[in-house]
Amino acid sequence: MKRIYADCAASMPMCAEAKKAYLEALDAFGNPSSLHAEGAAAARLLEDCRERLALALGASANEIIFTSGGTESDNAAILSLWESGKREGKRRIVSTALEHHAVSRALDHASRDGAQIALCPVDGEGVVDLAALDALIDGETAFVSIMYASNEIGTIEPIADIAAICRARGVPFHTDAVQAVGQLAVDARRDGFDMLSLSAHKFGGPRGVGALYIREGTAFSPLLCGGAQERSRRAGTENLPAIAGMAAALTRALSEMEARGAKAAALRDRLIAGMLAIPGVSLTGSAKDRLPGLASFAVDGVSGESLVIALDLAGIAASSGAACASGDLEPSRALTAIGLSPERARGALRLSVCADNTEDEIDEICSACAEAVKVILAQRG
Ligand code: PLP
Repeated sequence: MKRIYADCAASMPMCAEAKKAYLEALDAFGNPSSLHAEGAAAARLLEDCRERLALALGASANEIIFTSGGTESDNAAILSLWESGKREGKRRIVSTALEHHAVSRALDHASRDGAQIALCPVDGEGVVDLAALDALIDGETAFVSIMYASNEIGTIEPIADIAAICRARGVPFHTDAVQAVGQLAVDARRDGFDMLSLSAHKFGGPRGVGALYIREGTAFSPLLCGGAQERSRRAGTENLPAIAGMAAALTRALSEMEARGAKAAALRDRLIAGMLAIPGVSLTGSAKDRLPGLASFAVDGVSGESLVIALDLAGIAASSGAACASGDLEPSRALTAIGLSPERARGALRLSVCADNTEDEIDEICSACAEAVKVILAQRG
C-alpha cells in the first residue's frame, strides 16, 4: 500500500541536498578543534555551515551555536536567561501556555529554582494578547519566551510586535522558532530577538541537530560543561555531518520558500475545506495567520489517538497533536488555553503536509478521516 505522509511538523523527510551534504561531510572526519590539516578541513566546513546559517537568519556567524536540536536550544536559552535574571535579582518569567515542552518543562525547572512564571493570555485562535503582555512585564521580569509559531495549532504569533514590546521594556526575548525556520522569512536582527531556537528536522535536515542564535552582547551561561567548542558556549565535538545536512537543508528551504510555501498552503486549505465537511470537525488555531502546511482540528466524540491509529491502518501518517507529547494522558495545555474543553481537546488531530504532497493525497486523507470518524462513533454506539 502506498503511504501518505501528513506529519511534516513532527519531522520533515530529509531533502536530497541535505543527504548529499551529510554524506560528503562524513569524509571531513577530523576533529574541528584539532590543529592538524584534517582538523582544519573539518573546521573550515563547520565555519562555512555557520556562515550559511547566519546569513539565512539575518545574523552574524559568531551569534550562532550548534546544538543537538530544538530541545537543547530551548533548554540552553531558558536556563541561561534565568541565570542572568537571578544574578540581577529578577525572578519573573513571562511566557504562554502554547509553548512546547522543551520550553515549558525548562520553565518548570526554573520555577523549582524560585522563578515566578506568568503566562500571557492568548485569544481563541492562540494569538498572544499584546496589551496583556505589556502589562505582565514589570521591573522584576528576567525575560520573555514566546514561540514564533505553534506546533499544535499552527498559529503564527505577531512576533515582531512581541519583540518590540520586550525591547521597549528592556527585557530579553527568546523565541522558539522551531516550526518557523525554513517555512517563514525569519530574520533575527530585523525582528529584534535576543535568542532564537531552531531544529533541522523540521525543514528537511537530519534529526538530532539544531542551533541557537544568541544576539551579540547577550550574556550566556552554557548548558553543557566540557571543552571550549563553539567559543566556550556549547561543549562537545560538533556533529559535522548533521550540521552540514542542516545548512544544506536550510539553504534549499529558503531558496524555494515562496513557491513551496504557496503550494503547501493551497494543499492545507484544501485539507481544511475537506475536513470541515465532516460532521463534528472544527478548525483549531488561526484561520489566516497559520503555518503553510499545518491544519489542526478538534473532532467531537472521538479521541485523537484512535483517529491516528485508524488513519495509520489506512496508510496515512498523522498526529493527535504534538508528536513529542503523544502518550501524555493530560489534554494539551495549548488547546485548553484557546478555550477547548478537556473533552474536545482529546479529539485533537494535526495534519501537516508540504509541497511534495498532492491534491489526490489530500482528498484521500479527507475520505479516510470521514470513514474513520464514522466507524469510531459507530463502535462507541
Ligand atoms: N519546539 C517546537 C515548537 C517543536 O515543534 C519541537 C519538536 O517538535 C521542539 C521544540 C523540539 O525540537 P527537537 O525535536 O529538535 O528537540
